Amino acid sequence: MARKLPKTAEQFHENPHVDCANMHCHLPAICRIKIKNAWANLCKIHYDRHFADESNANLDKYGMAKLPDESTKEHVARMPEFVKQGFRKIGRYA
Ligand SMILES: [Zn+2]
Repeated sequence: MARKLPKTAEQFHENPHVDCANMHCHLPAICRIKIKNAWANLCKIHYDRHFADESNANLDKYGMAKLPDESTKEHVARMPEFVKQGFRKIGRYA
């Protein structure tokens, strides 16, 4: 659903917008977020993708990703312990 690129300056200024920071994406940006050490304007698609990638990275980082030899039932059974640990860290679980 890419937008057509304007061919002339007049066409560009008819619809003022900020392009998404992602290369080859010409959708208008909806927000500006800090990624590592730089700011980036992102469209909705790349905004969602950024946070999905971050959450997937955090699953591995905290050991919450499904292990290769683990069944879905075992994985689901293991998850409440992470919730308890999280609440213990913030002091809201005995
Ligand atoms: Zn984009």
